[in-house]
Amino acid sequence: MSDNAFDIWEPMVEDDEAIRAALEDANIPALMVSLVHLTGDMDIVRGEIRPRARNLADPQAGVKEDQQAVVREIAFEVLKAYRDRGCTLPPAPDRARVWEMMNFMIGEEIPEDYGAFLEGELSLNGEDPFVPPGMDDLPGDKRRDFRVLIIGAGMSGLLAAHRLQEAGISFTVVEKNADVGGTWLENTYPGCRVDSPNHSYSYSFVPKNWPQYFSTQQVLLDYFRQFAADFRLREHIRFQTEVVCGRFDEERKVWKVEVRDKEGVRQTIEANAIISAVGQLNRPKLPDIAGRECYGGVAFHSARWPRECDLMDKRVGVIGTGASAFQFVPEIAKQAREVFVFQRTPPWIQPNPHYHANVPEGQHYLLNHVPFYAKWFRLFMFWRSAEGMLGAAKKDPAWPHQERAVSKANDKVRQRIIEYIESVLGDDPELMQKCIPDFPPAGKRMLWDNGLWLRTLKRENVHLITDPIARITESGLTTRSGEDYDFDVLIYGTGFQPSRMLWPMTFEGVGRRDLQTHWDGDPRAYKGVSIPGFPNFFCMYGPNTNIVVNGSIIFFSECEMRYILGCIKLLIETGCAAMDCKRDVHDRYNERIDAGNLEMAWGAPNVRSWYKNEAGRVTQNWPFSMHEFWKQTRAPDPEDYVFV
Ligand code: NAP
Repeated sequence: MSDNAFDIWEPMVEDDEAIRAALEDANIPALMVSLVHLTGDMDIVRGEIRPRARNLADPQAGVKEDQQAVVREIAFEVLKAYRDRGCTLPPAPDRARVWEMMNFMIGEEIPEDYGAFLEGELSLNGEDPFVPPGMDDLPGDKRRDFRVLIIGAGMSGLLAAHRLQEAGISFTVVEKNADVGGTWLENTYPGCRVDSPNHSYSYSFVPKNWPQYFSTQQVLLDYFRQFAADFRLREHIRFQTEVVCGRFDEERKVWKVEVRDKEGVRQTIEANAIISAVGQLNRPKLPDIAGRECYGGVAFHSARWPRECDLMDKRVGVIGTGASAFQFVPEIAKQAREVFVFQRTPPWIQPNPHYHANVPEGQHYLLNHVPFYAKWFRLFMFWRSAEGMLGAAKKDPAWPHQERAVSKANDKVRQRIIEYIESVLGDDPELMQKCIPDFPPAGKRMLWDNGLWLRTLKRENVHLITDPIARITESGLTTRSGEDYDFDVLIYGTGFQPSRMLWPMTFEGVGRRDLQTHWDGDPRAYKGVSIPGFPNFFCMYGPNTNIVVNGSIIFFSECEMRYILGCIKLLIETGCAAMDCKRDVHDRYNERIDAGNLEMAWGAPNVRSWYKNEAGRVTQNWPFSMHEFWKQTRAPDPEDYVFV
């Protein structure tokens, strides 16, 4: 199987039977538009058989089975002819036709201002939509003289490094770990896998023929390792080196950053700009439960899973039922003698039979061999998850049952999920009640379930305990009702500390203002990127750039990096040493973000999550569409900044 499925397709030489077999696994909407590329015949997308937007949850977008059979038959003839004529293509469809094909595949009239957004994502002509125009026109020496320090070599940091390298800008990456990969390096717990569709959870310019629709941690880690190797980024990365602190030198208008390597040797690096790519979820949070320090058995956090960890026949306690526990509990339940899962709040789960499924062989074949099929398939996946459930997560103030759902559409989602839970746990009403959340769907990250989670909770060796934890003891814990539980191993699936963004590093901006003091547990930035008083300090995956129900976080990083490159371009063009975001611009922007988040399910008052800080403000999430973020970050407006 080739990895490079998107831009280069392999010649089709296989016999008829192989082609027929492959078509059985086709995504019909993507296949139909691909057939236009092979035939030049627009009638394929002008007939009765059409995907429907309202059926987007269905992998075939509502194209019925008999219709699928008709499409496969047409496709078979088209692919055979394509093979027999030596894999040549007719002239490419023009822009108007591509637009029509896009509308067809998505199953609805796409608003006109989505045009450039989706065309860029589809990128049929191979143009990279995330590189600001004119970068190459900047004088080479000015670009080389501009030095950037990137903090972190995870998904965002590697992207930043690659983009700067491409632009000819000097950079160094400082990474606290011994390897690249960030979250995919640190989270090695059993069962760890991506929970955004993989075909859109990948850099737009480095597609991969993923083995699964939601691939496992090792596959993701390998992808980022390969990326670093292919683009020769490793030589720019200082591994096992932590940033301790940074200070903006107002006189010279440079950042002075103190780093510490694994031997404890400290050094100061000077940079014109800093890009923070530290992620939001890498500082584990241990719960503030009385007695934690007394526990005498083996205990660890899910993001610090020991390399040697034999749970065979052990009694294991797990605190938390968030996205991490949801993935590792089913795995450890296969080994441990007993697993006690302590749940404070049940998560909303969504049925998805493909969650652990391999991408079938036929689908791989089509991705690799049918011209443009892979690009259309990615767009199909992207669109399905792009604005996806956003509408159903938005509050309707007139809806009367706000505590259980924020709107009628949200309530429908709730009802659908409850029916699913009932279908699996209906024979155990007590367990079923424990699994039904009392907050609106999409209030927290929704978790895909192919039945494994609910079936795991039904296992004889698994016990879901909802009695609140009173204290941790030397041998286990005691719940509020006075029940004692003893374990050999205690696992904290208790999440991270995202509101303490950038902690424990310290940064001093203009007037020696300390960033953590300035934020005071309430991180804010303009477009998630710029912070007033901290010139040339750019964040990726910064405040209010996390998503709950729509899209892929890699898309956000690509947008942010395009914006940051635009900022660097402005600095080089103007010859100014630094740019500082205007306070009023930042404040107005944040007011809009806050108002937006209050209108979403995750802003509801009865939702407690890592999206909110201690004061209850949503510090992490972006409340609008992906299209909106794309528009907002296309290029910096010089009017938003003070240049010095
Ligand atoms: P999390 O979503 O914050 O979940 C933490 C869990 O621990 C929650 O169930 C929470 O209960 C519970 N908890 C925390 N403190 C507690 C206490 N003092 N007593 C009892 N229970 C306590 O953390 P996570 O599961 O590590 O996931 C964090 C995020 O990482 C996810 O939202 C997702 O964005 C990301 N993630 C992604 C993937 C993936 O893509 N594959 C996998 C894992 C995680 P409450 O709900 O009551 O607070």
